[in-house]
Amino acid sequence: MLFASPEPLPRLQFRDDLWPHRDGGIRTLADRNGKCVICGESPTVKAHLFPRALMLDIRGLSPQLVAGSRHRDGVKLHQNGEWDEKLLCSRHENMLGAGDTYGVDFCRRWREVGISWPGEKAISVANPEPDKLTHFAYGIVWRHVHCKGGRDLKLDLGSYSRKMLRDMENFGSYRLQLLVGRNPLTVQGQRADIGIAPYRDRMGDLNVWHFTISGLDFYFKTDRRPFPSSWLPYLANGNDPVVIVQTAERDLHQVPKLFPILGRMLRTTWEGGYPTDLH
Ligand SMILES: [Zn+2]
Repeated sequence: MLFASPEPLPRLQFRDDLWPHRDGGIRTLADRNGKCVICGESPTVKAHLFPRALMLDIRGLSPQLVAGSRHRDGVKLHQNGEWDEKLLCSRHENMLGAGDTYGVDFCRRWREVGISWPGEKAISVANPEPDKLTHFAYGIVWRHVHCKGGRDLKLDLGSYSRKMLRDMENFGSYRLQLLVGRNPLTVQGQRADIGIAPYRDRMGDLNVWHFTISGLDFYFKTDRRPFPSSWLPYLANGNDPVVIVQTAERDLHQVPKLFPILGRMLRTTWEGGYPTDLH
C-alpha cells in the first residue's frame, strides 16, 4: 500500500532512473546482468510496477511516498514507486506498457469527464479504446506478480499468466474480464489517494485479482465460473463508455483486510526514523 508521506522528511539517497550518457543525452537505466523473464535476453530495463506518472500524482507535493506491507514491519520510502530493473528487456517492457499512456490518461481524467448516473451509484466515463485500458491493467498485474518482490511472495496467476501474456502480445482479444469501480476508502473523511498492489481477492464467491490506483479499483476475474449476466454491462472489456460502480465510502481504518498492513507499518515508530535501505 502506497500513499503520500504526511510530513516533510529528510531527503534520502535514491537511485535515479536516468543518468547522463556519454553522448550528452540520457538513457534509461539498463542492467546487463538481468535476464528478461519472458525471453531470457539481456539487458533488462527499469520496469515500474505501477506507472511512475501515477505514483507522482499520489505523491503530489509531498517529499516522498510511504509504502507498507503485510509482509514486513515499518515503512519504505519511495520517490516514484517501486520498480524492478531485472524483470524485462526493453522490447517486453514496451509490450507490457503498450496501454500505459492511455491508462494513465484515463486515471487522470475520469473524475473530470465522468458523468454521474442518477442516484450516483455509478459514473460513466468515455473509453474510446477499451482494449488499451484492459492492456494497461493487465500490465500492472503481470509486472507485480512476476517481479522479484512478487516471486518472493509467491504470487501466482496460474494459467492466467500465460493467457495474459498472449493477449498482450496480440494486442487484442483480452480474455480476462475486467470491472472498474470507484475506490471507497477514505481517511479523515477525505477520499484516500492510495495505491494497493495487485492481490488475489474475492468478488462474491468468484476469484479475482484486485488492485487500486488513482481512486479506482480494478478487478480481473480469474475464475472459470461466469460473472452474473446482470454484471456484463459493467465490464470494461469492449465498452465505451465504461461504467464505474460506486459503493458507500469506508474509512480506511475500518477495513479488516487492511489491519495487518497498517499494524505492521506502525511497528516502526515515526520518531524512530525511517529505514534508509530502500530497495
Ligand atoms: Zn524480453
